[in-house]
Amino acid sequence: MFIDSAKIYIRSGSGGNGIIHWRREKYVPKGGPDGGNGGRGGDVIVRADKQLHTLMDFRYKRRYIAKNGNPGEGSNCEGRSADTVIIKVPCGTILRNADTGKILADLVEHNSEIIIAKGGRGGKGNSEFATSTNQAPRICTPGEAGQELNLELELKLLADVGLVGFPNAGKSTLISKISAAKPKIADYPFTTLHPNLGMVYFAEEKSFVVADIPGLIEGAHTGKGLGIQFLRHIERTKVLVYLIECTSGDPKKDFTVLRDELKAFGPSLPNQLKSDQPLAEKPTLIALTKLDIADDKLQSEVKKIKFGKGIPVHFISAVTGEGLKKLVAAMWEKVRE
Ligand code: GDP
Ligand code: MG
Repeated sequence: MFIDSAKIYIRSGSGGNGIIHWRREKYVPKGGPDGGNGGRGGDVIVRADKQLHTLMDFRYKRRYIAKNGNPGEGSNCEGRSADTVIIKVPCGTILRNADTGKILADLVEHNSEIIIAKGGRGGKGNSEFATSTNQAPRICTPGEAGQELNLELELKLLADVGLVGFPNAGKSTLISKISAAKPKIADYPFTTLHPNLGMVYFAEEKSFVVADIPGLIEGAHTGKGLGIQFLRHIERTKVLVYLIECTSGDPKKDFTVLRDELKAFGPSLPNQLKSDQPLAEKPTLIALTKLDIADDKLQSEVKKIKFGKGIPVHFISAVTGEGLKKLVAAMWEKVRE
C-alpha cells in the first residue's frame, strides 16, 4: 500500500466578545443596557469528497484558519458569526492529531465529515445580565477561544495507472518526468521490487497516481513471490500503459509478450475479486518510448505499426518531453472514465 500524507495546521475562530453598551436616545436619558452578544467563531470541518484522489493540494496550502466572530454591538445586536472553513479530502483519508498520534476520524464515505475544530461561542453582552435588582450591569463576557490543532492526513493510495514494460523501457524516467511528488512507500515484505510511484498533477483537483509494475514482469519471469499488498494495488489499477522502446527491433512483439505475461498472471492474484477486470483487459494505452533516438526512417516505421483495435498509441520521449503532455491527458481521460 502506498501512503500519501500531509500535515496541516488548523484553527477555528474565537467567539466575538460581548460588549457593555447603553441605550442612548433623545428622550431616554438613562436607557438600559443594550450591549449585544458576540458572534460565533468559524468551525473547521473536514469532509470527504470522491472527486479528490490525492493529498497533493495540501503540499501547497498548509494552514486552514477560520475567522473570529465579530463583537456584539449596541441595540442588542449580535455580532456576525464567522463562516465555516471546509477542507475537502479524498475518501479514505484518516485524520490524526499530529502531536498525540490519536486518530480523530476515518472519512470513508463521500460527504462524511467531522468538525475538527469548533468555533468559540460568542461572549455575552451586558443586556444579558440585566435583572430586576441589577438594571445597569457593567459586565460582559469575552468570546470563547477557538481551537488549534496540528492535523495529520493520511491516505492509502491505490495506483490509478500502471506502467507495464520490460526493464529499461523508460518507466522510471517517465514517472520522474510527469509526476510532481513522490509519496512515501510503505515497507514491503521483500524490498527488492519496490514499485516506483508518482503523483501526476493534471489540473486542480485532478491528480492521479502512476506506478510502474516491475514486480509483475520480473516476478513472472523468476517465479518470485510477490507481496500481497503490491498485488492488490496492481489489481485495482484502472488503466495500464505499456511502455515499449521504439528502438527495440520489434515493438509489436514486445507488446504481445507483455500482454501474454499479464494474461498468464491474472488468475493467480491472491486477492482477485470476481468483479475485478482481468489485468489484460483493463483500459490500455501504448507508449512507444525514446523517440529521440529513433532516426526518421525508424520513426515512420514504428508509426505505422498496428497494435490492436482501439488501443491508442502515443510516441514519446522522456528526454525531450515530446508527447508527454498528450500522454498524461490520455491517462487522465481513461482514469476518469
Ligand atoms: P525502466 O527500467 O523501465 O524503469 O527504465 P528507466 O526509466 O530506468 O530507463 C532506462 C534507460 O533509458 C535510462 O538510461 C534512461 O536514461 C533511458 N531513457 C529513458 N527514457 C528515455 C528517452 O525518452 N530517451 C532516451 N534517449 N533515453 C531514455
Ligand atoms: Mg525502473
